[in-house]
Amino acid sequence: MPEGQKEGAAGAKPKSARAKSADGAGKSRYDFVEGDRYAPAPESSDHVSLRDSYQLFIGGEWVRAPRRIETINPATGEVLAEVGEAGPRMVDRAVAAARQAYEKTWSEMPGRERGKYLFRLARLIQERAREFAVVETMDGGKPIRESRDIDLPLVAAHFFYYAGWADKLDYAFPGRRARPLGVVGQVIPWNFPLLMAAWKLAPALACGNTVVLKPAETTPLTALKLAELIEEAGFPPGVVNVITGAGKTGQNLVRHPDVDKVAFTGSTAVGKLIQKDLAGTGRRFTLELGGKAANIIFDDAPVNQAVEGIVNGIFFNQGHVCCAGSRLFVQEGIADTVVRKLKRRMETLVLGDPLDKNTDVGAINSQEQLERIRVLVDSGREEGARCWQSGQKLPRKGFWFKPTIFTECAQSHGIVQKEIFGPVLAIQTFRTPEEAVEKANNTPYGLSGGVWTDKGSKIFKITSQIRAGVLWANTFNKFDPASPFGGYKESGIGREGGLQGLAPYVELR
Ligand code: NAP
Ligand code: MG
Repeated sequence: MPEGQKEGAAGAKPKSARAKSADGAGKSRYDFVEGDRYAPAPESSDHVSLRDSYQLFIGGEWVRAPRRIETINPATGEVLAEVGEAGPRMVDRAVAAARQAYEKTWSEMPGRERGKYLFRLARLIQERAREFAVVETMDGGKPIRESRDIDLPLVAAHFFYYAGWADKLDYAFPGRRARPLGVVGQVIPWNFPLLMAAWKLAPALACGNTVVLKPAETTPLTALKLAELIEEAGFPPGVVNVITGAGKTGQNLVRHPDVDKVAFTGSTAVGKLIQKDLAGTGRRFTLELGGKAANIIFDDAPVNQAVEGIVNGIFFNQGHVCCAGSRLFVQEGIADTVVRKLKRRMETLVLGDPLDKNTDVGAINSQEQLERIRVLVDSGREEGARCWQSGQKLPRKGFWFKPTIFTECAQSHGIVQKEIFGPVLAIQTFRTPEEAVEKANNTPYGLSGGVWTDKGSKIFKITSQIRAGVLWANTFNKFDPASPFGGYKESGIGREGGLQGLAPYVELR
């Protein structure tokens, strides 16, 4: 929960709200507080239109796949809908539809016309934002406050931003002529399902490419509902095709010989497999992969703000964030204070029903991810780091994990080196700026990082030495469509967002 969105959050210290009233009866001063807790404020799902069964969206038509898979709500275990599982024939059909649309309409259409479709789509997303936020929360487990205030506004902003570029590519690359690449195969993860779809689709389409998109198995619904909006916006058939399925579907898409470019966001392990698949084919690719960001707090930092930044860095979206601030480095002199304040703040986080507007920490996305987090946390304990978890009660149904911190960590610990992708923070201390930089860079990843200090000069010095694609100063987890995002080392190849996000989708002549 980025700081900007804090007001009204349940994290706003229920304890102080519980202070004794003037008559000393111990009654809450605020009528929305019941005892220790905020009264439930569930977002309604009555307005959501979800079908029981979704087909594949190919060539502007809804095509039935013979095999079906179910998607559940990870907060309850309830089945939300079944979707198709695209086998090799369906992948083939989707790529052929995209090829036809590329050759017959989209690549030939003037940029200003392509831009109109994208603007229309952006406006439709804004109109339906509330419904899409609810579906995103139900399918993936993230708090409604985040899907409503962060994911959906950013999704619309991305389409608006790249719609604006569609007829200005000559200005984006002065003196060069930008030509689209052709058919793009895009594969995305489950942590920001609709936002990742927007990051992929908007620049590809603005540049004149056509797309086959494969969302993650556990979160296909908002991509399918986006396909409905694409239909409503009147896009020519085949410009966008959405095929659902598991990893095998993604693999078939990536390996398809008529795909000109692959854009992948997901784990480093799968990114490496894709690189092997594409080696020697001459096809273009971008890979947005994992991370293990360092969040560095100097002793001259505003401590209370930094604690909010730590919480936002690692507990936003249950830590299912590639750029999460999952390694905390605190300067030795303030380490005890920071850890004490952090623990106190963690106790105030509201964990539970993701559809409740008070909720700060929602459900873990899947049983599989929960197992992965448990295994890594157990390994941290076994390796000798000290584990502390906040005291929230976990709901009985669904998948949940308590906000967790580790102190007394060593650089060699698995919890310091591996991406956990859950609400788990590994804390270390440092004495000098040089030590902080050395420890921060001692990772195979290089996606993001944060620095907290009162001194502007220190911000410039430290951020210039950290090898990461995205760096925040005195804040964390802030995104903007105009700002490029991407990593170094095992965090990937290529940038998404901004002017830089256009380059992977064009050939310059
Ligand atoms: P993942 O397991 O790598 O899956 C990502 C996508 O690839 C899913 O749609 C998956 O399908 C599909 N897939 C699986 N195996 C494949 C294969 N062999 N060939 C082609 N596609 C395949 O990653 P995840 O667990 O969904 O997502 C978490 C990871 O994404 C984390 O490592 C996180 O850091 C990273 N991430 C990076 C960024 C960034 O911008 N750098 C942003 C968000 C997330 P199924 O889901 O159906 O198996
Ligand atoms: Mg689901």
